[in-house]
Amino acid sequence: MGNQIELLVNLQTIDLQLRERTDAIDALRREIVEIEGSLATQRQALDAARAERAELEARRRDIEGTLADEEAKMKDRRMRLNRIRNEKEAAAVKREIEVAKEGTGQLEEGLMALFEQLDGVKERETELATAYEALEGRRASESERVELEIGELSSGLDEARVRREALAAGLEASLRRQYETILARKRGQAVVEVRGGTCDGCHMRIAPQLANEIHRNTRVIACPSCHRILYVRPPDSATSSA
Ligand SMILES: [Zn+2]
Repeated sequence: MGNQIELLVNLQTIDLQLRERTDAIDALRREIVEIEGSLATQRQALDAARAERAELEARRRDIEGTLADEEAKMKDRRMRLNRIRNEKEAAAVKREIEVAKEGTGQLEEGLMALFEQLDGVKERETELATAYEALEGRRASESERVELEIGELSSGLDEARVRREALAAGLEASLRRQYETILARKRGQAVVEVRGGTCDGCHMRIAPQLANEIHRNTRVIACPSCHRILYVRPPDSATSSA
């Protein structure tokens, strides 16, 4: 059993290093996903401001068109008024002119309010566009940094995986399954030392008979409390677990 435990300890060293690297790579990828998320939100806000401005401008053109028509009609009414000799008819046209003026005044007021709204929207649009551009720049530089870091973290990963598989191939199938199940389920280690009579994984006391058995190394023993595989480092061993 001794050789199997030593294999496990060496395998775990590689697995923990692999895990550390892949976790770091995942964290870097999440950073970019986060920026992409903010970028999408910012883009939506910018598009909304642009759509709002387009709508306001369409309304502005509408009102300006109506005002131009009104001006032409007004000219026409004044010419008519000059030609009219009948007082009753003249009064009717004058009345028409008054009503039209009132309408035009309202349209002009509406147009002024629209201009103010437009100014506000344009200002917001400019701010949003600036923020969007800045964020795009940040995405570009962060992507570059992240790609570089991922490249560094990834180099040697394939070799480590090959080494890992070679080591794992030397394990008994059931032990390998047991180890991989624990490693996948627990953060930290799956194979832990018994030190000072306690499990190094969960710090529970190990009963002396069990500790003896672990010492004799005749079978694989799991911690009764956390189910991690236990081992005892030989007292004068110079073998490193790394
Ligand atoms: Zn334990």
